[in-house]
This record gives sequence, C-alpha cells and structure tokens, in this order.
Amino acid sequence: MRYSQIFSKTSKTVSHDADSANAKLLIQGGFIHQEIAGVYTFLPLGLRTLRKIEQVIREEMEAFGGQEILMPALTPKSAWQTTDRWDGFDVLFKLEGAGSKEYALGATHEEIVTPLAKDYTFSYKDLPFAVFQIQNKFRNEPRAKSGLLRGREFLMKDLYSFHASESDLDAYYEKSKDVYLRIFERLGFDPKITVTTYASGGAFSQFSHEFQVLSEVGEDTVYMCEKCHLAINKEIIDAQSTCPSCGNADLLEKKGIEVGNIFKLGTRFSEPFGFKFTDEDGQMKPAQMGCYGIGPSRIMGSLVEVYHDDQGIVWPKSVAPLQVHLASLGKDEIVQATCDKLYQDLKDQGIEVLYDDRDRQVGAKLADADLIGIPLRVVVSKRTLESDSVEWKERSVSDAETIPLAGLIEKVKECFSG
Ligand code: ATP
Ligand code: MG
Repeated sequence: MRYSQIFSKTSKTVSHDADSANAKLLIQGGFIHQEIAGVYTFLPLGLRTLRKIEQVIREEMEAFGGQEILMPALTPKSAWQTTDRWDGFDVLFKLEGAGSKEYALGATHEEIVTPLAKDYTFSYKDLPFAVFQIQNKFRNEPRAKSGLLRGREFLMKDLYSFHASESDLDAYYEKSKDVYLRIFERLGFDPKITVTTYASGGAFSQFSHEFQVLSEVGEDTVYMCEKCHLAINKEIIDAQSTCPSCGNADLLEKKGIEVGNIFKLGTRFSEPFGFKFTDEDGQMKPAQMGCYGIGPSRIMGSLVEVYHDDQGIVWPKSVAPLQVHLASLGKDEIVQATCDKLYQDLKDQGIEVLYDDRDRQVGAKLADADLIGIPLRVVVSKRTLESDSVEWKERSVSDAETIPLAGLIEKVKECFSG
C-alpha cells in the first residue's frame, strides 16, 4: 500500500469524545472513524487488522468443528417472545417495520439459531454439531464508551453447539477453553495477562467462563489465583471466594477487559422452541446447547490498550495491519528509486508493506510510523545509501540499527517467520 494513496490520514488532534487510549490512537492513526457514540467505520488500515483478528478466530473455530454461517441481523419479535427476552433483554434495539411489524436487531442469536438447528436435527445421529458466525451485533448500551471496548454496534463471533447429552456438552465446553486461550495467544496477547475467569452461570450450570485481559482500564474486577492462573469475577465472589481449582484464599484483585465468554445453555432455548430429537432409546429429548462468544472489535481495542506507548500503537506481528513500514526520507531521486524497488521486491516476496512515499518532513514521517505502530520500520535516506544500507527499527524496541541493503529481504522474511 502506498501511503500517499490511502484516503484516511493520521491526525494530530482528536475530539474529546475519545475517552480512552484505544479510541484516541485508533482515530488519530486513521484506523477507525467515529460516526455516533459507540458506532465506528473501520478505515482501510483498521479493517486490515480487524480482518486478521477475524481470520485467526475463524481458523480456530473451524479446527474446533464449527461450520460458518451468516444469520440475519434483523430478527422477528415473535422469536424473542418465545424465550421471554423481548422484554427481558435490557439492551435490545427494537424497531417497527411495514405493517407495524416489530423486529429486534440481533444482540445475540440464540433466538435465530435454535429454530434453525431444529429444522435440521431429527435424531441423535444428527448430533453433535456446531455453527458459528462473525457478524455485527447491536446493543442499546446505556453508555457506549472506551472506543472499541463498548460499542452499540460491534463485531462478535458467536458459536453455538448442539448435543444429545449433557456429558457431550460438558466435554465440548471444556475443550473450548483451550481453543480460546490459543486464540488470544495467536492474536498477540501475552498469556500472562489472559485469564480464564469464573462468572455466574445461570440456571444450567454453576459457572460460565469469561476470558479477561488484565488491564487497568478494564471495567471488570476479578480476583485472581496466581498459582492456577484462574480468576473469579467480582459479581460472583460471594458464591465462590477461594480459587475453584486449588482452594487458595489469597486472591489478588485485578481489573480486566472481558474479551470472550462461554456459557452452557442446557435446554434454556431448546425447550421454548420445542427443539427435540429422538434419542438412541427412542425417547424424544430436548437438545443440549452451549454458546461461545468473542468480540473481535473489542479485542482490537484491547490490544491497543495493552500494547501502546507515548508515541502510538505497538501492534503484535500477527494482527498488525501490515508488516513493514517503508519510509523514504528526502527528495533525492536515488532514494525514491531505491524505495520503489524495495517496495516491489518485498511485495513480490509476499511481505505486506506500507510505503510512506509522501513528500513530508522527516519528523512527521517518523512520528506517523510510531503512531501507526507497524512492527518493522525500514527507512531509506541519502545518508543510509552512502553506505549501501537502510535504517532498521522494530517498533517494540527502542534502538535503530543500520543494516546493509544486500540481504535485507531475507532478514525481513526471517523477522516474520514463525
Ligand atoms: P459485557 O459483560 O462486557 O457487557 P457480555 O457479557 O454482555 O459483555 P456477551 O454477550 O458474552 O457479552 O458477548 C460476547 C463477547 O462480545 C464479549 O465477550 C465481548 O468480547 C463482546 N462484546 C459484548 N458486548 C460488547 C460491546 N458492547 N462492544 C464490543 N464488544 C462487545
Ligand atoms: Mg459478560
């Protein structure tokens, strides 16, 4: 990508609506644009990161047996009445269509997926299976805040699993915890700050589990057992005040951002929709269900919250919008020609390059590179070319090095391998 051709630019100023590091840096860096409170457009750079996050999640969901579908965002009132959630789900966006028909914008999709699964499930032989989607959700949050952390329209991956027995649901649910932890690690979170957390479970199990990224800006308070690397959400701490795994009572209070949530639904939704199947013994039984959510847009905001410095964002390699930030300094023809060639050579090797080919002051270009936060910066100037070299600087380290132009491509490939 040539930076001169991207329509969305970095900006020095940001509106005071930007109440958090992720809102400020993502808006200033030209990743997102705020439309109304809690509603954002993803700009070219921001969409690239969002898509990379989605792709990691998609790969892991497919490996976990999930079949990708896409359900509608417009959902009928009748389905929500069936489950008593038309009035019971406090943040549902409701709207009226032609002929005074009422609808809700999808805030979650049990009301759609349960009757859907019912249509294709007849006997125990059709179970188990799991479907997932990655889709915008709508919630009338009383206070949209903290940039991408709490939006009114946001992206969610929601997977739903269907089972013939509770024990089959239990086994799948347990496995999902490892899948989730792997996702967060692949997305670039240090495993030390991603904590599986016990939360209230509803009617069908004592606990649900949340995945919290420890951060001072998090809305949730959790009590953490350092030995087991598990936590309990404050909202249930009365029911369980010691580590559920080792009994340790010496728990540490921490702040966290909930980036994922898994839930055993049991028959909460299959019962009201009459979703029954014929079991091996010939009996009609309600299907057992689980749901497994992750917020890709909240994850994008969380990554910025935990990985930034005073100059800007420090993207993990796996989800950075592009890999190399190539900048030409000065107007010399040889500098331009060298950069143009390097840009092409890197692209030919499958490396993703943001080429800052603009005619700008050195300071402005370097400041933009820090703000945007691409993992590797390569700078070419008349001075570096005097020794047939370039300046190499990784965003996560403070010092730059001078390295020979010869062999540069190999070194870049090495930097992004594995
Ligand atoms: P919270 O407790 O933060 O309100 P929730 O428990 O209602 O979230 P779920 O219904 O479990 O959230 O949604 C699954 C995932 O979707 C969450 O773990 C989170 O990553 C994401 N998510 C939920 N609400 C929002 C929101 N308003 N903005 C951005 N992401 C969200
Ligand atoms: Mg929650």
